[in-house]
Formats: sequence, C-alpha cells, structure tokens
Amino acid sequence: MLDKVLIANRGEIALRILRACKELGIKTVAVHSKADRELMHVRLADEAVCIGPAPSAQSYLNIPALISAAEVTDSSAIHPGYGFLSENANFAEQVERSGFVFIGPRAETIRLMGDKVSAIEAMKKAGVPTVPGSDGPLGDDEGDNLAIARRIGYPVIIKAAAGGGGRGMRVVHTEGHLLSAINVTRTEAHSSFGDGTVYMEKFLERPRHVEVQVLADGQGNAIHLYDRDCSLQRRHQKVLEEAPAPGIDPDARAKVLEACREACIEIDYRGAGTFEFLYEDGQFFFIEMNTRVQVEHPVTEMVTGVDIVREQLRIASGLPLSIRQEDVKLHGHAFECRINAEDPRTFMPSPGKVTLYHPPGGLGVRMDSHVYTGYTVPPHYDSLIGKLITWGDSREIALTRMRNGLDELLVEGIKTNTDLHKDLVRDGHFQQGGVNIHYLEKKLAS
Ligand code: ADP
Repeated sequence: MLDKVLIANRGEIALRILRACKELGIKTVAVHSKADRELMHVRLADEAVCIGPAPSAQSYLNIPALISAAEVTDSSAIHPGYGFLSENANFAEQVERSGFVFIGPRAETIRLMGDKVSAIEAMKKAGVPTVPGSDGPLGDDEGDNLAIARRIGYPVIIKAAAGGGGRGMRVVHTEGHLLSAINVTRTEAHSSFGDGTVYMEKFLERPRHVEVQVLADGQGNAIHLYDRDCSLQRRHQKVLEEAPAPGIDPDARAKVLEACREACIEIDYRGAGTFEFLYEDGQFFFIEMNTRVQVEHPVTEMVTGVDIVREQLRIASGLPLSIRQEDVKLHGHAFECRINAEDPRTFMPSPGKVTLYHPPGGLGVRMDSHVYTGYTVPPHYDSLIGKLITWGDSREIALTRMRNGLDELLVEGIKTNTDLHKDLVRDGHFQQGGVNIHYLEKKLAS
C-alpha cells in the first residue's frame, strides 16, 4: 500500500480523499493556498504545506510548487481529485517523472481522452456507440463540410476537439449558417484552447445525460459500477444527480455497460473513470470520457457499496481490483444535491463567513462537505460547499430522505442554492424520472 499521499486539491474532495487514506492507514499531506489555511482537511492531515497565494494559477495549478511539496514531505503519490490538474497529462507525466505515483490513468491515456476526436475514435474502435458525426476533424474544404452536414442531417453541433466545461460548441440549424459557425468555433477553439481542431456531430434535441462509472486496475481487470443520470444541469453544470438512471431500456443498458468495461481493457485503462453518454429514444451515444473521480461519485458508492476513492488508492498501490464484476450488485437508489454558495436569483457566487452550519443526518443520509460553523468560504474557487447524498431501498424513499435532508440542512451567513433543490425534489416531472438535459433551464425560465 502507498505510504503517504499528497492531496493536490481543496474543499470537500480533499476531505473525501483524506478519509479514504486514513481508512487504509496511508499518511496524508494537505497542500493549500494562503486563502485556504482554515480548510477542514488541512487540520486533519498529518502534514500541511502552503503552496502559494490564493489564485489557483499560483497554487493549485502550480506544478513546480506541488512537486516540491511532494519532495519535501517525502510523499509517495499525488491524488489530483477533480478539476484543477486532474486531467492534465503534462502534470501526470511530471509527477511520475519526479518519482511519485500519479493516482489516475497513465499520461498517454489522459491525452488520448482529452482530445475528443481521438477519444471518439478510440471508443468507436472498442465498440462503444458514438453520435453520428464527421468521424474525425473537419478540414478546410467548404464543399466537404456541407456534404458532411447533409449526410448527418440538421441540426448539427460543431465542437472543439480540445473543448471542455461546456465551452467551444455551436449548434447549427440550417445550411446557411454552417460555414460561418465552423469558422467561428475554430477561431474560438484556437484562442481558448490553443488548438483549432473542430468536428461535427448530430445535435440531439432532447437527450438525457447518462454516464457509466468504471474502475480498472491496469492489470487486465476492469469493471463497471452501473450508471448515473446527471440530466439536471444549468449551463452544462450538473446540479442534481441520481443512480441508477431511471427508466433506461434494459437491453441498451446491458450492452453499453459491457462495452464500457471492454473499452477499459482495450485502451489499457487504469484507475477510476466515467464514460459520458447522451441517451435518446432508447439509444446511447458516447460524448466524452472523464479520466478522474467525479463530483457525483457518491451516488454510485451508495448503490453499489464500492468505495471508489479507496479503489483508486489500491490501484495506485499496484493492487488488483478488490471486486469482480459478478460481485457488483445494485442495491436501492441514491440522489445527490450539489450545495453551492451562490445567490439563488442570480447564480452568482456568494462567498463569506458561515455563521451556522448544521448538516442533516439519519439512516441513508450522507453529507460530504468541508464546511463548519465559523468557516469562511473564500471567493477564489468554485462555489461547491457540499453534497447532500441520500440512499433508499427505492427511488421514492431516497427522494423522501432528500426532501427531509434538505429541510434539515442549515447554512447561515451566506446564500446557497438549497431552495432550488427543495423545489426540484418536489417537481412532478422530476419525481417521475427521466427528464432531459434542457428541463432545468426551461423550468428556471418559466
Ligand atoms: P464538455 O467537455 O465541454 O463538457 P461535452 O462533449 O461533454 O463537452 O458536451 C457538453 C454538453 O453539451 C453535453 O452534456 C450536452 O448537454 C451538450 N452536447 C454535446 N454534444 C451534443 C450533441 N451531439 N447533441 C446534443 N447536445 C450535445
């Protein structure tokens, strides 16, 4: 087992990783910016190192500072969490070159999946269903591009190969707008991501976002941990997730789960990962793979009993997966509400001092949060202050527990989106299950 892990992240995920390390008897190193001295995991870690000023570029994204911190603390491995450097292939490479274990896939896998064109190609080869599209980057020939769009059928979406976070995409409804949209997306992709490669896909008009969690040990073993539905999104940011995805065609589901597992073996995947799909009319379409632990991983843990971060640590220690596919059993249903420090009307961040924090509790209720009464949410980072996760034997019970949990949750002194969640869990369409990715924005607009 790894001896000492440096946690290259902050907030709730840093605390989540720390807990998993402690359970396995692994020593922990917290790194933090000057603005983050008061973080809960900094207090609980065996050692803490300040790596720079508040802005992420100078601290959590500062590769030399992180590697120096690993050196001075004699750490054996670095866990990147999510966000920040978690999907940065250069970071993974530098970590390993400096003699530490990167807790995640090999740098070349991150690179392969970080470019959406090469990711789609690899998935197609592995038998994972993809969105009908240009099958590779778009060239400069206008006639060719018009022909591709005609073959796919409008509406189409132009996407940047290097895009992320919902940026670098443009939907085109009619032929007259195609060429200018390609040009604009290309120029934007070039300036935002330093790579002007764009490709074209069929634009699905009312899909759901359904994703598959996988674990692979890089020793020829891979399993899937079933699916999650993350269709409730605002500006491509997930708001509320659940596992398993309700009302999915059983045959399509069984096929996609197995295809994801096989794809892991095909690309020699190592670690935890997520295959993201759009699901429409009983069909799955791969859009991208995330090569890290995800914010919403707890809903999968609740319905499978598998500790995903623990498995990440075991895999990074060189151990084989502790479970076989046939041992993974789905049990019950789980929801996760992302609690953000934000103004409920404007969705603008609402940092400041938390004067009272009271998390809900009880059977089937889990609160993953770094917040405590007296903690000050700094203005420099994303606004996630916690995740309320509930589990139940049935979807109804899990949802009832979420309703009650949200009523119990008290966060005072700052504004949060708790009321939005209270409203969502009482929404008739959401209660039925299976709303599409536009549902939340339409509801907010009405
Ligand atoms: P990012 O890496 O920026 O998250 P994705 O490829 O995952 O980019 O796409 C982000 C979101 O854009 C999806 O969750 C979906 O809402 C929308 N989207 C992407 N591709 C399509 C498509 N072909 N049809 C419809 N919506 C799409």
